[in-house]
Amino acid sequence: MSTEALCQDCLRVCFVADVDKDSCECGGQVCCCPGCMATLQELRAGERDKRALGLQVEISDWNEQTGCVVVENSQSTLTTQRRAH
Ligand SMILES: [Zn+2]
Ligand SMILES: [Zn+2]
Repeated sequence: MSTEALCQDCLRVCFVADVDKDSCECGGQVCCCPGCMATLQELRAGERDKRALGLQVEISDWNEQTGCVVVENSQSTLTTQRRAH
């Protein structure tokens, strides 16, 4: 059975068998801690504000199959560092 997890780089929703071993197809780490699941719920609810989401970068769009669209002039250091994993 696979677990729903959030990629730390592209914010795509990944279904992984082992969250510690598997990674996103973009190569990013996936995480399913309560903080990341809360971020995912906010994204699904339509939240795109980086402060509300706890992101390091601004996003202009998000899709759970393709991940986030990062606003170009925001920094490329990624995403969910503020929350403890
Ligand atoms: Zn990814
Ligand atoms: Zn996490």
